[in-house]
Amino acid sequence: MIDLHTHTTASDGSYSPTELVRLAEQSNLQALAVTDHDSVAGLAEAHQAASRTNLELVNGVELACRVQTGTLHMLGYFIDLDDRALGDLLGRMVESRRKRNPQIIAKLNQLGYEITMAEVRTLASGPIISRLHIALVMLQKEYVRSIDEAFGRFLGDNGSAYVQRIEPAPAQAIELLHGAGGLAVVAHPVHLRAADEQELGKKLKDLADLGLDGVEVWYPEHTAELTEQLWRICQRLDLAAVGGSDFHGAAKEYIKLGTGRGGLNIPLEILERLKSRL
Ligand code: AMP
Ligand code: MN
Ligand code: MN
Ligand code: MN
Repeated sequence: MIDLHTHTTASDGSYSPTELVRLAEQSNLQALAVTDHDSVAGLAEAHQAASRTNLELVNGVELACRVQTGTLHMLGYFIDLDDRALGDLLGRMVESRRKRNPQIIAKLNQLGYEITMAEVRTLASGPIISRLHIALVMLQKEYVRSIDEAFGRFLGDNGSAYVQRIEPAPAQAIELLHGAGGLAVVAHPVHLRAADEQELGKKLKDLADLGLDGVEVWYPEHTAELTEQLWRICQRLDLAAVGGSDFHGAAKEYIKLGTGRGGLNIPLEILERLKSRL
């Protein structure tokens, strides 16, 4: 079994890269991709930890891209960690987050919620502070009953404390990932909010025309029906089918590494097939 979608403390996961690699070993994973949000900062440490094991560690990243309907997440695999152009973009994205977070906090304060950047910062151990960290503080303070409520009412694209940040267009993300020697895979297509298989196929065809290499077909929040639709679309458009749990650790404790909500089981062959596209 493998897991191609995971987060560490370099973004909004609760396991350090070393701890995540250990957990992957304990879970008998054969391969692990670390795909932090807009960051590759956890990968050096992950490689160090993985070098003492049989685990195959894949360089990954999850880039937030701007599309008309909101945000699309693009997974990058096999990227060169020293690529200048990709590094420049990631640097600008971190900086844009740094500017956005106090603006979100100010909006929440205006709405009457007492929350400070210092409180949010205590939850983040890396350079990335995400809305998930803010949501966790709101949950701790019982301003919301769930993370979902925090996003639905305040932090999501239509929330009252939403603040936009720099996000590349999918075309730019795909180009940069390819430029860094990597592959581009659209994450959790359930979030594309397509009404039916035809619309889903159209959206993925548009991305395939931009050079997309694959689709995250197996994902804890995908129904069996959606998974089948995605599989068919991948066959038709000649896209690689991949999958992962989107493991975050304690921040999303109901998602387990490798198995997701329990039903995920992705064989090593999926990674081999993805690699053959390089
Ligand atoms: P950001 O990276 O600051 O844009 O924050 C987005 C992150 O928050 C995502 O990567 C998810 O991990 C998390 N997130 C977004 N929407 C939700 C939601 N409805 N419920 C739980 N977590 C979410
Ligand atoms: Mn996240
Ligand atoms: Mn995502
Ligand atoms: Mn993710």
